[in-house]
Amino acid sequence: MSATAELAAPVVRVSDMDKWYGNSQVLYNIDLEVAAGETVCLIGPSGSGKSTLLRCINHLEEINTGSVEVLGDLMGYRMHRGRLHELHERDAADQRTRVGMVFQHFNLFPHMTAVENVALAPIKVKKENKAEARAYARELLGRVGLAGKEDHYPSQLSGGQQQRVAIARAMAMRPKVMLFDEPTSALDPELVGEVLAVMKDLALTGGITMVVVTHEMGFAREVADRIVFMDSGRVVEQGPPAQVLDTPRSDRTKAFLSAVL
Ligand code: ADP
Ligand code: MG
Repeated sequence: MSATAELAAPVVRVSDMDKWYGNSQVLYNIDLEVAAGETVCLIGPSGSGKSTLLRCINHLEEINTGSVEVLGDLMGYRMHRGRLHELHERDAADQRTRVGMVFQHFNLFPHMTAVENVALAPIKVKKENKAEARAYARELLGRVGLAGKEDHYPSQLSGGQQQRVAIARAMAMRPKVMLFDEPTSALDPELVGEVLAVMKDLALTGGITMVVVTHEMGFAREVADRIVFMDSGRVVEQGPPAQVLDTPRSDRTKAFLSAVL
């Protein structure tokens, strides 16, 4: 992270946020800040609320209390003088165009080539010029190591290649933040490395802010500026990779790490 990035306001700021699904609370008092250019890896057991937190950051889920601020725009709810105020400084759909998200299942359109998949949203949502959007899509596909595969259909690509197309597709909207939800969990083991390599490249050279939910501890150790450990809907501890992975403070972190490492 550069010195200027450290001085800037956080790109993501989640404050005292609770999330319920119906009668069951799944996130408790979440406080999380992500600085510009920072890469944060979110780790924790299945069901601990990692995906829900990402979905709240991207306004795919409504929060119950607290606030979520992305790129300086508050969304969600804040308690003020004992009353709950709804905050919508920016339309959720508009906000999502500034946040890229990559899921475990890439869901490319099967009837469209790699380039068409990547250029679709810039053309449809941002009304970009078609030729320019396709040219930028080709550039991004090159960046994720898919030069020569631009005109292939998803069925002609491996799972790792499809996930790299999905990363290029998210990048095509020129997001300020990228959220990754276990992007390698559905891949055959031999395809995991190529996707992690692309993410590492983005993190180290892209200047982009990233929040990555992952079980890949090697990646987290090498690439994360900070690791956040969640359990049972709470942020249990966070810190630099060496601190969280090698000298965890909480017994829950220790137990999780001894199970996955
Ligand atoms: P993680 O990504 O860490 O595995 P999730 O955020 O997916 O955890 O889930 C957190 C908790 O919320 C789990 O108990 C899960 O069963 C529950 N949950 C997730 N999505 C929904 C939903 N749409 N409706 C109800 N409960 C949900
Ligand atoms: Mg999940």
